[in-house]
Order: sequence, then structure tokens, then C-alpha cells
Amino acid sequence: MVIDFHCHFGKNPKPLNFQKEEDTTAGDIVAAQKRSGIDYSTAIPFSAAYREDLEVANGMMMALRAETLLPFVWLNPYFLRMHDRRGTDEVLLIDLIIKNNVRGIKVHPVCDAYYPTSRLLGPVFEIARETELPLLWHTGWGSFGDARYVEELAEVYGDVQIVIGHMVDQNAPGIAKRFQNVYLETSYCSGPRRLAGIVNMLGSERILFGSDFPAGDLLFQKTLVECAKIPDKDKENILGLNAKRLLNIKS
Ligand SMILES: [Zn+2]
Repeated sequence: MVIDFHCHFGKNPKPLNFQKEEDTTAGDIVAAQKRSGIDYSTAIPFSAAYREDLEVANGMMMALRAETLLPFVWLNPYFLRMHDRRGTDEVLLIDLIIKNNVRGIKVHPVCDAYYPTSRLLGPVFEIARETELPLLWHTGWGSFGDARYVEELAEVYGDVQIVIGHMVDQNAPGIAKRFQNVYLETSYCSGPRRLAGIVNMLGSERILFGSDFPAGDLLFQKTLVECAKIPDKDKENILGLNAKRLLNIKS
């Protein structure tokens, strides 16, 4: 089984890969899955579900009825703080998450421009804890994306499974080594040798294949894992078995 743990849909926030692209639909992901031999993909919207957008986000989730897509919500902690004051929207969010069979939560400190401290991200982690969903955390591309912020949250919320998105931060493998609730996702890993080195140091049970579609390419990122000089069992773990366990996929 092959599961792409990092896949986006919806309105592209800016031209990707220096070219104008149409907004990404659920159908685009499914077509890319078929071309690339992928069984399941997460489906992560490009922006946060917040107060005014709950209905829109809800509609987007409902539109994703392909059986091979696993919807995630993108949460911005600043919006949740507003919700806290109003005292209702966080409840609505949890309701949205449960009703729409959401499978995970995404945070993106770089796009949403914040330092991901435990104080700021606490409410997001409370939701992850309450819904028992894994949390995909963007890292890389500047100081907001520094993986070292993950450590504090991983320690405070030892029962929340954190996936460090993109294999670009030098500190990420060491953090995953220290915290059993931290996983690594493979997109933009510089090459098969680096991946093999990380598997050597960490084992393969907490590494998840991801493409970052539509910015990244499913087949290209999958091939990177396949080219690594590691045992087949490790490749199977990375390409699908670990995500299957983490996302509670039955078949
Ligand atoms: Zn992403």
C-alpha cells in the first residue's frame, strides 16, 4: 500500500513552480494517484479554516468524496485565539472535524507568519488531542519554519503525533530520535543517500512518504524513496505501512 502523507488541494495561493496553474481539484489528486501508483493521499486545503470560512471549508470537505482521499484541516492559531474569546468557534471546528471524517491537522507557521511556540500553538494541540488526530507541521524556509520549535510541543503534548513536514531541516532527524511522538515526512529530501542515512539513524517506523502535490510530484518523490539503498521492509514502512497505522486505515 502506498500513501502520500502530504498532498494539497483547492485554491493555489501563488503561481507554483514559476508557472500559472489552475486551482487543484480533488479530481487532479486522483488522476495523479493513478499515474503514480498511489493508493491514498491526504487532502489538505491551502489555507486555514477560520471563523468566516467554516462554511467554505465545510463545503470543500464535503466535496471530497473520493474514497482514496483523506481530508485534513489547516488551522491557524491566531484564528483560534479569536475563537477562544468568542467561546464557540473552536467547538464548531471540532464538530466540522468529526462530521467530515477529517483525518489530520496541518499547521504552516511560514505561510501564516508566526513563531510556533507552545503558548501560541497550545489551542491547536488541544484540538489534536481531543480529536486524536496527527498533526502535520510545515518546516523549512526561514525562521518561522525552524524545526526546533517542534521539541517544546512534542514534550508538552507527548500524546499528540507530530509529523515534521518536508525533509529539509538539519535538526529534524535528531528531534525525531529524541521524541517518540515525532515523525518525519520525506518531501524535498535532497536524495536517496540522505534518506538512507536518516533511516540508518532513526529506523523506518516513523518516516512517511509525502509529495507536497501540486508543488511536488507524486511519482518523483515516490521514486526517491524507491531508490534509497535500504531494505524493502523499510521502503514498505515509509511508502505506506506507517501512514496506514497513523491514519487508522483499515483496508
Ligand atoms: Zn503543505
